[in-house]
Amino acid sequence: MAAPEAWSPASWRSKDIAQGVDYPDREHLTKVLSKIGTLPPLVTPAEIERLRYQLAAVQKNEAFLLHAGDCAESFDACTHENISNKIGLILTFSLILIWGARLPVVRIGRIAGQYAKPRSSKMEKVGDREVLSFRGDNVNGLDANDRTPDPERLLSAYFHSTTTLNHVRSLLTSGFASLHHPREWSLSHVRSPSLRKEFEAIVTNLSDALDFSRTIGVESGPSFEQGGGRGTVGEVDFYTSHEGLMLEYEQALTRAFPLPRERTSKSKKPISASETPKAFYNTSAHFLWIGDRTRQITGAHVEYFRGIRNPIGIKVGPSMGKGEIVRLLDIVNPLKEPGRVTLITRYGAGKIAEHLAGHIAEVRESGHPVIWICDPMHGNTHTSASGLKTRNFSTIISELTQCLRIHAQCDSRLGGVSLEFTGELNEEGFSVTECVGGSMELSEAELGLRYQSFCDPRLNFEQSLDVAFLISNYFQK
Ligand code: PEP
Ligand code: MN
Repeated sequence: MAAPEAWSPASWRSKDIAQGVDYPDREHLTKVLSKIGTLPPLVTPAEIERLRYQLAAVQKNEAFLLHAGDCAESFDACTHENISNKIGLILTFSLILIWGARLPVVRIGRIAGQYAKPRSSKMEKVGDREVLSFRGDNVNGLDANDRTPDPERLLSAYFHSTTTLNHVRSLLTSGFASLHHPREWSLSHVRSPSLRKEFEAIVTNLSDALDFSRTIGVESGPSFEQGGGRGTVGEVDFYTSHEGLMLEYEQALTRAFPLPRERTSKSKKPISASETPKAFYNTSAHFLWIGDRTRQITGAHVEYFRGIRNPIGIKVGPSMGKGEIVRLLDIVNPLKEPGRVTLITRYGAGKIAEHLAGHIAEVRESGHPVIWICDPMHGNTHTSASGLKTRNFSTIISELTQCLRIHAQCDSRLGGVSLEFTGELNEEGFSVTECVGGSMELSEAELGLRYQSFCDPRLNFEQSLDVAFLISNYFQK
């Protein structure tokens, strides 16, 4: 096989760029990018390495991965309430999983940078006007009069990401995630009495278990969270992610850092800074994924992703041709390192049976270590009679349960889920109404009540807990 061409943070520029943005003022773009290139990293190599370590544990069936958050964040939704509701929901969801499956949960939010959106067409109709499609807050505005791509939005995305991440970090280090009072994550608005009862039962059992551990003095033993970092009861690891779509932005935040010592040499002999091998880390998020529309083997996105040290995701849909996954894996993970690649399947409830088993067999045959996770959202979107984009809860569950079954039949294991959900509440404290069904039995007629997404429809708080209990019961030990 021919040696791969040299990689650099900019080598993607010579490839075909799917979903590229045409900036009318390229000089302005260059100026903004060089400014971003001087700004500090958002996340550190040590955190990225810890995530790789924990994902390798997921791959060995020793942990479960929860990847969740908004389809797209917006600058306006960057508020204390929205961020804390989102983190609260992720923590609640993961607690339900931990309790049922008795496995650590690796939490990766679609947060602190999930602004750019791929679109199926360049133009869209707004009223009777044909305008450029909305590409996410880091490119252009939702307002039909604000669709010209503006490079300043990339800088604004950087600062909104940092402020979001700063708030997440402060919440998590100030007791918000403490298992001693998970009731504070707010279940007050959950209407379904059975959901509330189920969750309260977990909390009561957990409080008893914590009291007991405290009494006998074993509260802070070594934990999975350590993976080379901190980790005590009541403090959790949390990671950020977004789709690595805007390669100009990703390049500007790609920085060379020395590889951690234990990965470079087993010898105790001191090595000088100049001898330490370096790797390129994307410092805008811990985890990045390649979308279903940008995973062309010879395209720019795959080229960029192959050179970064971060753990990455690849969306796998029904259009993934025979042999294509393995060709992608050979490019992005030639050394077959565990924890490096997560395959996020999103076929749709009607198509998963046709594709998943074959994909599992191909990957197994290749010897590539991967984590399989199920995204039961993106293959199951449709337009309701009223014209709102929605997803049916029962279809989401159908893809998820088929996915669990097919993995079991193939002697494989589902390592996690990727969900679009939100803990967002309106001013009166009600959840959003974007997906139909669930234990709250949301009807199509109710969709218009509190439809807040400007991108894909998200599960609300109650519907998300329904999913958490389903998975938790499946893995119940
Ligand atoms: C997404 O995850 O928001 C998305 C656009 O997914 P996909 O690339 O699978 O369509
Ligand atoms: Mn989406």
